[in-house]
Amino acid sequence: MSEIVLETEKLDKVFKVGGREVRALSDVNLQIKRGDFISVMGPSGSGKTTLLNMLGCLDRPTHGKVILDGVDLTKVPEKELYKVRRDKVGFIFQTFNLMPYLSAIENVELPMEGTKKPKNERKENARELLKMVGLSEREEHRPYRLSAGEQQRVAIARALANNPAIVLADDPTGNLDGKTKFEIIKLLGRLNAEQGTTIIMVTHDNEMASHAERMLLLSDGKLLEKEEKELRPTEKKSTCPSCRTKLPAEAEYCFKCGAKVVKTQKVR
Ligand code: ADP
Ligand code: MG
Repeated sequence: MSEIVLETEKLDKVFKVGGREVRALSDVNLQIKRGDFISVMGPSGSGKTTLLNMLGCLDRPTHGKVILDGVDLTKVPEKELYKVRRDKVGFIFQTFNLMPYLSAIENVELPMEGTKKPKNERKENARELLKMVGLSEREEHRPYRLSAGEQQRVAIARALANNPAIVLADDPTGNLDGKTKFEIIKLLGRLNAEQGTTIIMVTHDNEMASHAERMLLLSDGKLLEKEEKELRPTEKKSTCPSCRTKLPAEAEYCFKCGAKVVKTQKVR
């Protein structure tokens, strides 16, 4: 298996609106390794969602290439794209986007529909995924009977249903309060560390972004990669007492192993 799971070459996206052109992405060249945890930041309108849509084949670039898990997406016919999306990409949204009339376990099973997996295996698989996100007790709950954090956990389990090559998360903590935000980021960090899930996460939150290993910055559709030091020049680092991973000074839990780092600090 190639070390590079996702690659873009000279990616451009231009929208035509009322006879005018809006350049949403401009010459984006990107290489992402299998097992990376990447955060994407940038002001509103800088092209973050557009980039995720190109990477997850929800939309096509105007020019340039996206190569996902060895497949050149620009060469896949329109009517076959949904299969690539289903088999290789997991999506997590700010607003969870669960089906309101389905239970938690049915929501997780949904992406497996249409795959070759037999029905009983799908259920078993969904059960294991809900267990992994700590929701075994909530299998039969519909979304309205779950808290916001629990709904996002179901959405994370759903994103992992077909064991995707990449997980794309568009501001996954944007609708959550401080403590829940932290639990979700910890869960994503754990999935990345333990299962080797490749995660590309858009966020507006510097603290959330600091949990990723690499940060990308978009500005007016152009990609700038920032060293962590450049983004947070004064921030001190701490070290996980258990696995020695370097962590942001304010981290309470290690995003790699989940160990508690600071006991007395107030949860933001
Ligand atoms: P972000 O997610 O960083 O806020 P977006 O990717 O949503 O930014 O948008 C980037 C730019 O592209 C913005 O100027 C936005 O108005 C424009 N844009 C995004 N989607 C469309 C669309 N479907 N049609 C026209 N313009 C769009
Ligand atoms: Mg957006």
